[in-house]
Amino acid sequence: MRPLFTSLSKVRPPTTVARRRWLHLAPPFLLDDYIPRYQQISSRDAAKKRSLAYSHLQNCNLCPRKCGVNRRETTGMCLIGDNVKVNVIAPHFGEEPCIQGHNGSGSVFMSGCNMRCIFCQNYDISHQRNGMDLTPEELGEWYLKLQEVGKVHNINIVTPEHVVPQVALSILHAKDLGLRVPIVYNTSSFDSLASIELMDGLVDIYLADFKLWEPSSSKRLLKADDYAATARESVKAMHMQVGDLCFTGDGIAKRGLLVRHLVMPGKQEEGAEIMRFLARDVSADCFVNIMEQYRPAAHVGKKNTRVKSRDGQPEEVRYAEVNRPVSSQEVSFIRKAATDAGLWRFNDPPKHDGFAI
Ligand code: SF4
Repeated sequence: MRPLFTSLSKVRPPTTVARRRWLHLAPPFLLDDYIPRYQQISSRDAAKKRSLAYSHLQNCNLCPRKCGVNRRETTGMCLIGDNVKVNVIAPHFGEEPCIQGHNGSGSVFMSGCNMRCIFCQNYDISHQRNGMDLTPEELGEWYLKLQEVGKVHNINIVTPEHVVPQVALSILHAKDLGLRVPIVYNTSSFDSLASIELMDGLVDIYLADFKLWEPSSSKRLLKADDYAATARESVKAMHMQVGDLCFTGDGIAKRGLLVRHLVMPGKQEEGAEIMRFLARDVSADCFVNIMEQYRPAAHVGKKNTRVKSRDGQPEEVRYAEVNRPVSSQEVSFIRKAATDAGLWRFNDPPKHDGFAI
């Protein structure tokens, strides 16, 4: 007797066309109710993560700078000890529509950074260590305030790469206090695999920058020649944990990876390489935001006091090659490379009145 239904495995495309995407069997980007991952980890795993977080703080090699310091006694390159320094905690409306929603993203802007981007758009926060000191427990209590008072859609930890142990402890504390909204890890992607592993089970959405591709560019502009190699491994590990970006029916992202690329002047070939990497080595269904709002900031365009003219006056500006906004041609070049590579989920304005799912 013939079976009434054919099993799914029997209707899959043959292996010779396995890489061709079947749009009528689109992946399930729409979720039913969503329970944050940190609410699902066992108390045993939570205890293991706590203990791992404390041990990382005592011998910090947690980001690619590998300082090896005891952060209870001193600081490494990020200049942050065992507490965090926070600049702003507030509902934020400058994120992608699927992240900020109607009520805003509950953003926590960390002071300090493990990178030294010469064009940093948040220079006063990242490089100048302005803000208030909080213990991990106090930080977790702020998440609850954002949830209860701000009614935010998520907790968005901005620039967490250098405070991963403290962030892990804060999420576990907030979980016990009743946090229910997703955690967004908003990163430069200059993370170690150990950091991403510590965040596994605690983070719902990875909001990951991928800035530059060439070591020579990242050495000059980010002060990290191993940036792209590190970001490639980090982004792949993030995707392994949470998959492609998924939404609930209200259009708010709840789980997955969203990659941002800030288009840089004259660096469109590097942007194109990043798009090809995402499509090839991460996922053709990766949700991508190609951002065109670069503006010269921080050290870019400042008078170069080292180069003197004959009359002894400063002659040139610093980092002149990136001292301009990007052109629409540069943005279009990267967008075309992305679509040619097979990417199709972009942070475009919706063609209807709703959210861009
Ligand atoms: S997190 Fe800070 S102390 Fe730890 S390795 Fe990175 S820069 Fe150094």
